[in-house]
Amino acid sequence: MNMDTLVSLCKRRGFVFQSSEIYGGTGSCWDYGPLGVELKNNIKRLWWRDHVQLRADMVGLDASILMHSAVWKASGHVDHFTDPMVDCRACQRRFRADKLDEAPWIHSCPAKKDTKFEVPGGEPCVHCGNRRTLCPECGKGQLTEPRQFNLMFKTFMGPVEEDAAVTYLRPETAQGIFVNFENVLQSMRLKLPFGIAQIGKAFRNEITPGNFIFRVRELEQMEIEYFVNPLDTVAGRPADEYWHEQWIEERRAWYRRYGIAAGNLRLREHGKDELSHYSKRTVDIEYRFPMGWSELEGIANRTDFDLKQHAKFSGKSLTYFDEERRTHVVPYVIEPSAGVDRSFLAFLADAYREEEVRGEKRVLLRLHPELAPVKIAVLPLLKKRDEIVARAKEIRTELARRWVTVYDDTAAIGRLYRRQDEVGTPFCVTVDVQTVGDPEKGEPGDDRVTIRERDSMEQIRVPVAELVRIFQELLGGQPWSSVVQRYPAQDRA
Ligand code: ATP
Repeated sequence: MNMDTLVSLCKRRGFVFQSSEIYGGTGSCWDYGPLGVELKNNIKRLWWRDHVQLRADMVGLDASILMHSAVWKASGHVDHFTDPMVDCRACQRRFRADKLDEAPWIHSCPAKKDTKFEVPGGEPCVHCGNRRTLCPECGKGQLTEPRQFNLMFKTFMGPVEEDAAVTYLRPETAQGIFVNFENVLQSMRLKLPFGIAQIGKAFRNEITPGNFIFRVRELEQMEIEYFVNPLDTVAGRPADEYWHEQWIEERRAWYRRYGIAAGNLRLREHGKDELSHYSKRTVDIEYRFPMGWSELEGIANRTDFDLKQHAKFSGKSLTYFDEERRTHVVPYVIEPSAGVDRSFLAFLADAYREEEVRGEKRVLLRLHPELAPVKIAVLPLLKKRDEIVARAKEIRTELARRWVTVYDDTAAIGRLYRRQDEVGTPFCVTVDVQTVGDPEKGEPGDDRVTIRERDSMEQIRVPVAELVRIFQELLGGQPWSSVVQRYPAQDRA
């Protein structure tokens, strides 16, 4: 499966649309459609439930996107949040110098009588020692020397466009947490170690956005700042190093829990030369995206850098009183920083399957039921029979009180199943002639319906009265096999 397959599925089935498409699109922003918003909300809800709701040492926050401009001076973003940029002198296209350097390039080597061959990414030519000098797009223009380009979107707060009014759209949600450290600590009476979690939009004026929703200019992050006492040791290690390891494992396990294959995840340790200005150690969780291994989440040890900087710039004390030691400490912080959009892409890519069923192609999203945008589809076997349609609609209304449930009668049943498979709906409920009987002939129905499971395509017949209880089991984590054995099996479809 390549990226185009996913982009096309996303558009066709209402997951993701190009932003402002009727005007030609922006190329760097995407809109989440009716099914996309459900999947995205599910990702965020599960992250919040697992990391905030279920833990006694975590609380949440929702800080504003626009902040005092001093925040970005203190955090280092005004000076350091830059990427090296090069321009093509011929076609004027712009590239991120470090990403260009990573990619292989076609070289016409003067030391080899101008023969052309490919040089692997990150390396100079072994014959002449030159690095790439020509544009990868047009192949003709010389590239300029790299210049540093700040990725923050600048704007003005208030009606006057003057220097004093300059502020930025936040490039990460983290700073909203640091500047609220004291507020949260005092209002919630927290004891170290504890974490503050936040989900929200961030903006980065990326030089070369691309790869669908992998690199966008308006993104959403799920970030945790986990504060630890730097004087503590846990299991014989400094607390910050211990908790860093814990969070790396916790976050990797989270992706696994919701279905990502172990072989498609790996950890990558940042080299000393690539560490951010605030970081003691950073480990990325990488995913094998359709375009190759790339960062899904970064987990950094930000030390006490941010709290100290904000204390210095604001003149306020941002410390924690260690009662045992009777001393004030500046906590260290571990930051698992995940992208909602990249998680969306990873979950989708990992769930995508193409199978052959009875000589026909079946496209399937094997999404974890908790992630699936639609949990149940209620389908009438015959839409010409009013009683069937009415009963199906009643069942949909009943189930929709608890789960996202749709009704569809716009095609024959086989096609309706395929449509639901393609968007990852784990269960279909089919209402048929037997369910409602034939009132004209005085034949009563059995008020039973068929449940079909997406991955196995197995079907069981169950009483309508038991549907809610069955779906509470199935959508509450019970395996299909445990429910199947209680009910008669039907033919697969
Ligand atoms: P990259 O090296 O890919 O530019 P980064 O190291 O700058 O990413 P972080 O600053 O660590 O990224 O941001 C944390 C997370 O936010 C990333 O792991 C990613 O999931 C998400 N993220 C960052 N930038 C973008 C973007 N432009 N589009 C989508 N998601 C992003």
